[in-house]
Parts: sequence; structure tokens; C-alpha cells
Amino acid sequence: MAKVDRVLEMIAEKDIRLLDLKFVDVLGMLHHLTVPVEVVDAEQLSQGFFFDGSSIRGFRGIAESDMILRPDPATVVCDPFVEGPALSLMADVLEPGLREYGRDPRGVARRAEEYLRQTGIADTSYWGVEIEFFVFDNVRFQTGPDASFYYVDSAEAHWNSGRVPNGGYKVKHQQGYLRALPIDEQTDLRTAMTRQMQALGLVVERHHHEVASAGQNEINFRFSTLTDTADKAMLYKYAVKNVARAHGKTATFMPKPLYRNSGNGMHCNQSLAKDGVNLFYDPNGYANLSQIALWYIGGLLTHADALLAITNPTTNSYKRLVPGYEAPTNLAFSRANRSAAIRIPVSLSPKTTRIEFRTPDPTANPYLALAAQLMAGLDGIRRRIDPTAAGFGPVDIDIYHHAGSAAVQLKHVPSSLRQAVEALKADHEFLLEGDVFSEDLIETFIALKEDEIRNLETHPHPVEFEMYFDN
Ligand code: GLN
Repeated sequence: MAKVDRVLEMIAEKDIRLLDLKFVDVLGMLHHLTVPVEVVDAEQLSQGFFFDGSSIRGFRGIAESDMILRPDPATVVCDPFVEGPALSLMADVLEPGLREYGRDPRGVARRAEEYLRQTGIADTSYWGVEIEFFVFDNVRFQTGPDASFYYVDSAEAHWNSGRVPNGGYKVKHQQGYLRALPIDEQTDLRTAMTRQMQALGLVVERHHHEVASAGQNEINFRFSTLTDTADKAMLYKYAVKNVARAHGKTATFMPKPLYRNSGNGMHCNQSLAKDGVNLFYDPNGYANLSQIALWYIGGLLTHADALLAITNPTTNSYKRLVPGYEAPTNLAFSRANRSAAIRIPVSLSPKTTRIEFRTPDPTANPYLALAAQLMAGLDGIRRRIDPTAAGFGPVDIDIYHHAGSAAVQLKHVPSSLRQAVEALKADHEFLLEGDVFSEDLIETFIALKEDEIRNLETHPHPVEFEMYFDN
């Protein structure tokens, strides 16, 4: 109750007019319900607010649509985008009677944290996610009788982000990384995004222009526990999209919006701790990794094919996982190699020793993606999967340039969403442990993904016109 009281105090102190309750659907889209404070009291805050769940993708059918949003008072911040003043709260989705709803992604994340404690292996998992995105000036929206699609004016994006008529200063192809002004013309835009992220409770540590030719950005915020990091990933995207829009631009987290340019990753740094001690650190291990960390890696890589259906859940995701763009293509672990699915970043202290799963991209639902990674890693620990015996490395030669050569036999990431979804069908027991994921949620998720695969496969594609129109 104490935390609910804090929300009521804030309403009084800051003369708040609205509560903005945010929740996330199965596919990771953010939704909100806005409530005037006049109807809010302590009881309502702890009992939650009814809403109709029937029109939310992946939630319940029309017959049983009454659902409850119960705000998590620990997530209260002011919402800089909703005219109010308004408080933003992340909400859990519950069924009538305040029963857990198996398809609420945030519930999956909470249960994953609870399950970790129950295993006794660790009490806390820490997550640092690095989310990349593009900001474009020219995204067009075309509609036809049956189809609608966006496209980016990529010729323009290739040369600059579009505004500078006298383009003497241009980002050269794939040379945008950390470039200074005036090439990096989105510096101030990222700073504006940073300010709003700070208002939303993120501790921003840095921002920069990324590798791609134009308008690819990254803003880093501080690591935290699992559900909190997933909440913050949602607020990160919320801030990026809203600030871009306020400046007349469009942000996208699509994994590969531009052909022959870097894609957008959501690298997931992770570690386990018990009683305040980092369980991944051992000064005598490979790259200072403990046995537990190696087994965890074994779990991630063993389940990778299935895992990618959740961490790389769009048809576009697999267009990013190709050689040459610092996106992972191999199911391997390595100290420094960026085309390995798992990289062990150089750590300056025992506290920061961690592994970086580089495969995920920002179209993933962060609650499901982080929970699924944790479950795969824990399965590796439970089954003591030695990643070296399983053929995953370590690989410290430059696989980026040797990929495909006979000397290096490495397993590959799945090459399509269809492959990953088929793998998830066959391999998801590890997600069901401790009732963290439910069979119903996995089935729902797979059905939604199969719709997307069919949707793309049955549409004539612009590239098909290029290749075949003249046949
Ligand atoms: N954009 C790359 C990816 O797709 C990562 C770039 C980097 O590591 N600097 O994962």
C-alpha cells in the first residue's frame, strides 16, 4: 500500500490531472489508457482498472473481454508527452479476480525473476540493453486497394539524412560511427530524446551516431533488473518515437530498414548475481568467466534457434543477420568477435563481468525476449551444457572475415523467421519451467508469427518486380 500512497502524494504535490496506464501486447506494442485523477483513489490503484481486452492483438476473444490493468506503483514517473500534467505507470494485465493473465508479457518477466529466485542459483539477473534505431526525414506511406506499405527514400538516406541542400559534408557509406558534427546532424535530436528519457526515469549514460550511412543512432541507459529493464526499453522507444515525431521526423527500430547498410540490434548484456556477488566472474576462467557463465552460454546457444523466434521475431529480423554488418551470424561465443552471437565484453572489474547476446533486435517484445534468454541460460546451468563440448567455440579468430572458409566450422543463426518459429515449436520446454511462459502464450505467439510470415510470402515484393517484371 505504501507505494500506492506515493502515487497519491505525487498527484497532490504536482497537481497531476491524469494517470497514463501503459501496457504491452504479445507482439511488444505499447498501449495506454488515460484516467482522470478525480476518479482515482488508493483502492482503485491497488485493484486496477477494467478495459476491453478483445481488440488487443494476441489477447482474449470477444466472448471474454473484461480485463484489468493494475498499475505498478514502483514505475511511476511524469509523462512528458501527455498533456496533463500526467503520471505514467506501467501496468500488469490481469483477469477478473486479479488472476495472473498468462499472455501478459510483463507477467512473464515478473515470473521469470521469481523463478530465478526459486532455483536458488541466483537471486537477481542484470540486463543492459543497447537499442539502435534510424531517424529518417523521408518515409513515405503508400496505400493501395488491398495493401499498404511504407518505404524509405533510401537513395537520400544513403547520402545524408535529407535536409542539407548543400551536401558537401556527407556520411560516407557505413562510416557513421561516432562521427562528429556537422556530419552527425542528429546530435541535438538525440540530446532532446535523452532529456525525455531522463524525465521517464532512465539513467542515460551516452549517445552517439552509429555505423550506418545516415541517421542511425544509439542512446545507452543504465543496466538494471529484468522487468525494470524491459519497462525502460519500452519507454526508450516511446521517447525516441515521440521526439522524432515532434521534430517532423520518423524513427524506426526495424532491424534492417536499408539494404547494404547496418541494421538495428538490441544487444543484451546479462549476468546473474547472488547476495550481491556477480556469479559470472572468475579470474581464472576464459575471459574471466565462471563455470556458471559458461553453462549459461551453453544454454543460450543450444536453444538459440528457438530463442530467436522471440528475440528476433520479425521477417525483417533475418535480413539483419547477414555477414558484413557487425550483426551476429554464427552461433558461437568469443571475447571480441562481433559476428559471434555471444561476445564477452572487456570488463574492468569483477562487478561488470557479463556476456553480451548480440542477436536480439528491437522488434522483440523486451519482456518476452529477456525472460526467454534467462530461461535458456538457466536451462544451460541446470543441464551443465559446456559450450565448447557443444561446438560453440570460443572463437577468437576473425570469423567476420573467415566465415565460409573451410577451416571454420560454425553453426549459423536461423536464416528466416519460419526456421526460428519451427524451432520454437519443437523446443520450448525450457520456457515452461516454473510456469514462466505458458503453452497457451507460445501457441498464440506462434500463430501471430505464422500470420506475418504468410502475409509477406503472399505479397508481391518490390524486389520481385525488379527481378522478374521484365521476364
Ligand atoms: N548495428 C550492429 C548490429 O546490427 C551493431 C553495431 C556495433 O556493434 N557497433 O548488431
